[in-house]
Amino acid sequence: MKPRMCGIFGIHGHAEAANLTYLGLHALQHRGQESAGIVASDGERLYAHRAMGLVQAVFSPPDLAALPGSAAIGHVRYSTAGGSHLKNVQPLAVDYARGSIAVAHNGNLTNHTQLREQLEARGSIFQSAADTEAIVHLIAMSMQRGAAEQIADALKQVEGAYSLLFLTEREMIAVRDPMGIRPLVLGRIDQGEGVAPAWVVASEPVSFDLIGAELVRDVEPGEMIIVDESGLRSVKPFAQKERKMCLFEYVYFARPDARLEQSSVYEVRKALGRRLAEEQPIPGGTDDLVVIPVPDSGVPAAIGFAERSGAAFEMGLIRSHYVGRTFIEPQQSIRHFGVRLKLSPNRPVIAGKRVVVVDDSIVRGTTSRKIMKMVRDAGAREVHLRISSPPTQWPCFYGIDTPTRSELIAATHTVDEIGRYVTADSIGYLSLEGLIASVRSVERRATGGEGPAPTSYCHACFSGEYAIPFAPSAQGRHLRLVGG
Ligand code: AMP
Repeated sequence: MKPRMCGIFGIHGHAEAANLTYLGLHALQHRGQESAGIVASDGERLYAHRAMGLVQAVFSPPDLAALPGSAAIGHVRYSTAGGSHLKNVQPLAVDYARGSIAVAHNGNLTNHTQLREQLEARGSIFQSAADTEAIVHLIAMSMQRGAAEQIADALKQVEGAYSLLFLTEREMIAVRDPMGIRPLVLGRIDQGEGVAPAWVVASEPVSFDLIGAELVRDVEPGEMIIVDESGLRSVKPFAQKERKMCLFEYVYFARPDARLEQSSVYEVRKALGRRLAEEQPIPGGTDDLVVIPVPDSGVPAAIGFAERSGAAFEMGLIRSHYVGRTFIEPQQSIRHFGVRLKLSPNRPVIAGKRVVVVDDSIVRGTTSRKIMKMVRDAGAREVHLRISSPPTQWPCFYGIDTPTRSELIAATHTVDEIGRYVTADSIGYLSLEGLIASVRSVERRATGGEGPAPTSYCHACFSGEYAIPFAPSAQGRHLRLVGG
């Protein structure tokens, strides 16, 4: 099962729980576009609605009206190879000996294969390919009494990255893995005097803004938050580990208006652009030079790059917001169709200019190559490429959807070779030290203190230093770790 990019949202103690979850999922749609689901509780039983497609397409007003109660959890999911089936759509909801439980998962379990083999040997029958199902089987087998204790018991056997939301008839339970690899935030909605606040938990606080909730704090690595009729309590059931927040959330994945670990993702991306301009200046100076982002994700870094380099920032590529993922790969004659459908050149700001294109990352290199050609065809005199992260050389096994190592262009090519492949006049990536220093500086400013240690981040996709080791069978069978 490939790792999945996902977003999760949950609310407890609000009369409009399902409607607010629907809105929360809208704000998290960038984290997964393939399927969506909500499970709600009216205190007696769970009600589920899940389907393939965007949030807007999955839920009609009658679908939402059929999700009663004051608690709900929801999930948006993106997955490629092998996982695009309705049976894998989350939240997963089951009845077991002690009642009903639903779970929404963002992340990926690294010992999933072994867990599944052990559970199957003990008689478990799996219904989906999702690693999340192993957690549900472990919960059902736990000898502990309450749901929170059963979940903690199950998760002690699990390794990997997980931000999880559980819903039972009466409780919502949120858990973040002991390294805090994937984000998870806590918020509240005040409901007036004498009424208890509603508690909300989500992958990113952008969903709180939409529903008028206030951000309280990040869920801490290794923390479990239990919300029921009597309010909220927090426990730390796992052995403490070093924090390893995913750097790629800052580089690309999270929305720029999100605040993670108290830092503004937008500010981080601008800082990456400033540092990139220092590390990788454009040969030939700034005369006639324009900095253009690959929209949308390259915009804040391009602003930072322009600010530090002294060159003009221009929107030289315009993005259509009406195109989703392109499924068609047309024949040779119209091969650039895919990117052209999404991006078009803004000729007046490009023609006759020396252009720096700023993007956040290169995966296979195909997009960059098409963009370089598009900008040159629009009349640019020179086309330089600057990337606001280090070369992506290693697949992520902790919840970001990346291809196998052999498909990552930076795993098999030098930076110069990549520059030649994409036909850039010059190419430059941000260093890993530059990336970490930039994220730290923004976090330090946000917290007004020393900030996290330089080792507090997961940068496996850039360095190959995986925060969680893999069992050999996991590498071979399901995770397809190719090469070194
Ligand atoms: P590629 O053509 O494979 O080099 O794709 C590079 C583009 O994909 C960049 O513009 C990135 O913003 C974007 N990107 C980076 N990581 C991912 C990811 N995990 N999933 C989807 N798009 C990504």
